[in-house]
Amino acid sequence: MHEFYIALSIVETAELEVKKAGGNLVEEIVLEIGDLAGVEEEALEYAWEEAVKQTILEKARCTIEKKSGIARCLNCQQEFTLSFAYDICPSCNGFRKELLQGKEIRIRSLTILYN
Ligand SMILES: [Zn+2]
Repeated sequence: MHEFYIALSIVETAELEVKKAGGNLVEEIVLEIGDLAGVEEEALEYAWEEAVKQTILEKARCTIEKKSGIARCLNCQQEFTLSFAYDICPSCNGFRKELLQGKEIRIRSLTILYN
């Protein structure tokens, strides 16, 4: 289940950030997950509960913000949203495109407690 490794690496990154900032607990974490990142949201939430046990994130509220897939057609330059990585351009049916958004898995913000 790769969501578990994703959750673990998010926790590791967050712990580093909190340490750098000199805090000792996370109150809230906001994650940005792209629709094309291949992450099953339910699986991630389930994995999250396990991954945060006995960490500074154990009591943190976790919010997931979904980012839709956006690409620019390399044929006609049209920007369009896509649900699947292999979606074609709706204007010219071209399949060559540059992905602008939708594959991200990242921490958007951390609310750190100092006490
Ligand atoms: Zn096009």
